[in-house]
Amino acid sequence: MQNITDNSERNMPRLILVVPCYNEEEIIEKTAGVMAEKLRRLIGEGSIAADSRILFVNDGSRDDTAKIIHSLTQSDGIFSLISLAGNCGHQNAILAGMMFAKDKADIVVTIDADLQQDIEALDDFISKYKAGCEVVYGVRNDRNTDGAMKKMTASLYYNLMHALGTKVIKNHADYRLVSAKALNALSGYSEVNLFLRGLIPTMGFTSDVVYFDVKEREAGTSKYTLAKMLTLAMDGITSFSTKPLHLIGLAGFIAVILAVIMCIVVLVDWINGKNVPGYTTLLIIMLVATGAILISLGVIGEYIAKVYMETKRRPHYIIDTVVWQEGRASDREASV
Ligand code: UDP
Ligand code: MG
Repeated sequence: MQNITDNSERNMPRLILVVPCYNEEEIIEKTAGVMAEKLRRLIGEGSIAADSRILFVNDGSRDDTAKIIHSLTQSDGIFSLISLAGNCGHQNAILAGMMFAKDKADIVVTIDADLQQDIEALDDFISKYKAGCEVVYGVRNDRNTDGAMKKMTASLYYNLMHALGTKVIKNHADYRLVSAKALNALSGYSEVNLFLRGLIPTMGFTSDVVYFDVKEREAGTSKYTLAKMLTLAMDGITSFSTKPLHLIGLAGFIAVILAVIMCIVVLVDWINGKNVPGYTTLLIIMLVATGAILISLGVIGEYIAKVYMETKRRPHYIIDTVVWQEGRASDREASV
């Protein structure tokens, strides 16, 4: 167990800013400049330790992102880089960065590479940590930068998650502060279906929220494709709730009762010699029943797939290269 009750660490913690990057060549240099300036200001104010760092996690970018970051690390020691061997996805990239940073930092803040999340909120994150929080969640003030469709689906999703009993924080993406203590606890979770937004609140550490404004993406396009978003949403539901499984059981029970009633009605009609206009009815019943069975099997299959993946115990990510320089960042020449 790590000792982080030391007051000097709590008052001037070493911060590592973890920034996942996937094909961000258009903005990464600007992002690096803005983040470095902010960190240096915090260091200057005595708010964080002088050896605080910015750690870029290159998530298998196919453009020049890695090259640009690598040259940044050569010109300024405040920047570091880990490059994953392939595209592992946003959640795994964040996890890779956090796990890499956990023994080096007192606190880790994860933030997107596109400057959409207000970096100025860092002051509030840090003061909440100093006030005793182990986890601080960044919550966006509004969703004005999102289209009507994203707003609606997001709201629907949060309500669904809530109904299914998962502790997600509304309008919190992955802009958050996690202390070394909470990171050590997080490293004990080995599940493959990673949904950090659901997982971290279940750990139960002292936490608080910080509100920030979301800006438009300054350059490049969203790297979250519809398919990636749906996968994340599905992971969120199936990794935390078994309610869908119970609902299938209930639906099946109701279907059986209805079928029995139907059978009795049909049999009575047959005994009374009534002409059963059966064809249409039967066809409808067959179709509905087949549909219901298939949907049910689909949901069950979803869980079986997860069980299957969990039994493999595959690593979440594979680190390819590391550029990490010890010592105070300010000892080196800043040229960004
Ligand atoms: N990202 C990543 N791997 C991926 C997709 C995205 O590391 O497979 C990063 C991306 O570079 C960015 C962050 O995750 O820093 C959030 O992605 P994006 O801004 O495209 O999502 P949006 O803000 O549109 O939801
Ligand atoms: Mg973004």
